[in-house]
Amino acid sequence: MKKHPALGKAIPSMGSTGSIDGNNSIGILGTRNWQRETFENAWKISGNAMLEQNLRIGHKACSSCIARSAIFWKARCGEYAGIVSRGPEYETLYAYGSILENDNPDSIIAADRLSDELGIDTMSTGVVIAWVMECFEKGILTAKDTDGLDVVFGNHKIILDMIRKIAKREGIGDILAEGVKVASERIGKGSNEFAIHVKGLELAGHTARGLKGMGLGYAVSSRGGSHQDTRPGAERSGKLDRAVIEGKPEHVLKNQRMTAIGDSLILCRRHAEPFFGEYLSEKYVELINLLTGFNLDLDELNMIADRIYTLERMFNCREGITRKDDILPPRFTKEPIPDGPSKGMFIRPEELDMMLDEYYSLRGWDIKTGIPTQEKLIELGLV
Ligand code: SF4
Repeated sequence: MKKHPALGKAIPSMGSTGSIDGNNSIGILGTRNWQRETFENAWKISGNAMLEQNLRIGHKACSSCIARSAIFWKARCGEYAGIVSRGPEYETLYAYGSILENDNPDSIIAADRLSDELGIDTMSTGVVIAWVMECFEKGILTAKDTDGLDVVFGNHKIILDMIRKIAKREGIGDILAEGVKVASERIGKGSNEFAIHVKGLELAGHTARGLKGMGLGYAVSSRGGSHQDTRPGAERSGKLDRAVIEGKPEHVLKNQRMTAIGDSLILCRRHAEPFFGEYLSEKYVELINLLTGFNLDLDELNMIADRIYTLERMFNCREGITRKDDILPPRFTKEPIPDGPSKGMFIRPEELDMMLDEYYSLRGWDIKTGIPTQEKLIELGLV
């Protein structure tokens, strides 16, 4: 681990904040509520810039881990000076940074700390604020709706107040606290076209347009817009061609097998992905057998993973979720990325349909409805 370039060096030094530069360099960093995927000032909120400004004051670890990836950052400037937070990680730099076109790292440290204190998720909250900013831009909402706050892209001064409003359900915060799906349904006026969520969960900081497999992964994720069911690494690193749909349904399924088992083991992704890989393999089998005393083989481990994911799907189906809900925000299927290194990329609706057909068929779920078939449930021992 100590010799590994990420776990031995980059992660203990700056957590996941290095992904800001990496994603921006290939044009897949959510910016301006995903209107764009390149942020000219991304370098100002990158881990390297925060290190150069001496904002890092220490790091801590989960039990027994030598990577110690929990970085403590301290804001140094202006009204935020002196505020310390465990984080922000990459996802929060996206949510309170690039997606709001905010290039002030001190404000992001303060917003991260406040969100932790209030017990609210930074990704969902940031995406909701970005949606309000686009509503302002389009004249759907004005400062009259936000008690005078000027919620416009690039204005870091309103972020803490907006977080407090949401947490306390004050004024417009009462609607926003329901999340961007419900808020856009209530406000209307076409604002659902740029409400960035899947199944009501606001999207994480990994593109659906610039990584086609990730797009499918979000659409079929049990949780909605989560980056923890399907992972972006294989496409982002170039191991898989991010611009094509061929092979992506199989990739998504195999990747979800790994995340389902990893989550059940409570295995840190930062260890699992570099050392054991994106898919279940003999390495995982050996690890699990040594830890548990089980005597599993790879087929049995895959079967357990499929049972987990299909059970999650059955839970969702019981709540009325089917193929009709395995969709992406309209922005990702209608609007190509307008500029930057990934210019022109998006997921055409027919591409998503083709990937869904193949994915359901690989899973043994009904192609028309996305509901697991009786045969599959029997095979997995779920009935
Ligand atoms: S277990 Fe994972 S999250 Fe925890 S300190 Fe280690 S690398 Fe970081």
